[in-house]
Amino acid sequence: MINSMQGGEWTFLISFLGSAQQIRPANHRAIMQKIKKCYKCKKNIPLTGFNKNKARKDSLQSSCKPCQRQTSKKYYNSNRKRCIDIIGINRRRRALENYIEIITKYLNVPCVDCKKIYHPASMVFDHKVGSVKNIYRNEGVNYLIRAGYSKEVIKEEIEKCDVRCQNCHYLKTSKDFKHWSEISFLINDYSSIIKKLYKKHWNFFDFDTFKIQKGEISEKFSSAMLERAHVEIEKKKEKIA
Ligand SMILES: [Zn+2]
Ligand SMILES: [Zn+2]
Repeated sequence: MINSMQGGEWTFLISFLGSAQQIRPANHRAIMQKIKKCYKCKKNIPLTGFNKNKARKDSLQSSCKPCQRQTSKKYYNSNRKRCIDIIGINRRRRALENYIEIITKYLNVPCVDCKKIYHPASMVFDHKVGSVKNIYRNEGVNYLIRAGYSKEVIKEEIEKCDVRCQNCHYLKTSKDFKHWSEISFLINDYSSIIKKLYKKHWNFFDFDTFKIQKGEISEKFSSAMLERAHVEIEKKKEKIA
């Protein structure tokens, strides 16, 4: 198996085993008797101190094993830096491509709540209730794009989301986190209060009617709301007392 190996693999194997002795015991004595001058350190070294290189006349490297190891290390280090640079550039390119695709394809859609189309900068990916975020530190889809994640990972995350405009997103979040809990009972009663106030004009949802009566409605509605709020506060006071 070892004899059928390619030159590169052969050299690689020898350099890792550190010695040719184990591989060709039959030639061992003959090789040990010969020496060669290392091109790098200029020392005279037995042939076993050189790695193989079939491209050369004597089928051996021009520098000894330790010198070659040093050269390889230098090459690897400079190569590594170049590789890291290239990875960085590729990541930026991928992030940019993903941004463009997301903006033109996924964010250029009507809001799931109000059905209006806005500038993509006004739209957000809103995780559906119960979906599990596959993201470090609770970051959103935008983080995945910026960090240069693959399209597959990004699409997988987008599928867990609804696309909302910022306004509807804020409204929904307020409800979810009960930002308006103090007046929620009034907001829930909105329709019934309005209907009571406008029994005669129950078609107030018609926009033209609303426009004409806007001032009047606002005034009456706010005083009705305040009245109800005061009643609720009084009730709470009584409970405490
Ligand atoms: Zn050397
Ligand atoms: Zn909306």
